Amino acid sequence: MKKAMLVAVVTGSVLAMHAGLAGANDKAAPHWSYDGKTAPAHWSELDEANSACKLSKEQSPIDIIDSATKKAALPALEFKYAGGAAEVINNGHTIQVNLPAGSSLKAGDFEANLLQFHFHTPSEEKINGKNYPMVAHFVHKTVDGKLAVVAVLFKTGKENTALAPVFAALPQEGKPTPLASFDPAGVIPANHAYYKFAGSLTTPPCSDGVRWQVLKEPVELSKAQVAAFHNLYKMNARPVQPLNGRVVEVSE
Ligand SMILES: [Zn+2]
Repeated sequence: MKKAMLVAVVTGSVLAMHAGLAGANDKAAPHWSYDGKTAPAHWSELDEANSACKLSKEQSPIDIIDSATKKAALPALEFKYAGGAAEVINNGHTIQVNLPAGSSLKAGDFEANLLQFHFHTPSEEKINGKNYPMVAHFVHKTVDGKLAVVAVLFKTGKENTALAPVFAALPQEGKPTPLASFDPAGVIPANHAYYKFAGSLTTPPCSDGVRWQVLKEPVELSKAQVAAFHNLYKMNARPVQPLNGRVVEVSE
């Protein structure tokens, strides 16, 4: 039993590493958090590897101001997601759902494999100065190692049945919950209109070069689902970062 659990934990951290989030799960990496002495304002001081948190000019998240976006003929997003055996983990910073191989995102010539998704509360992204109660980040990686994130914003409303198995699990740290079958496609809204910009990981080491796509249409979560997440994480959102001249494109 103990051994099986260890294997599961190792599997989870390998997946996270593939997602470019090695620092978050590496036991040797220094502690970071969302408040106190290891809060976002101090991330760059915690480890040399986190220098991008301070020095990069294309950090995420950002505040997307509609009047400052640029309409563009962006390629349609194709979510080639499929169901399969998944695993819900609590990595000490968020709840993350690790997904099996076989799902991918396509946008014109761009294609990347879906690795995992995880949550932040409130939404890290702001739209016209306002946060949503939560957001999910779907993390994809191309065969040559580039990351692409799709953000799905959540407003409160009806229970989200696609996410019900995840919210039923919400494990404590070190106790991954296997899901026999989970289909991430159920979380994606019908309307795929989106904002696109160049950004970064929103957690240490804040590596940039991440292709960001924020879906405009929010999906619903019940108040009970948001409350269940808040029982584990009250706040796990990095503050918005300066645009530094970046232009946010919006699909026509
Ligand atoms: Zn995230």
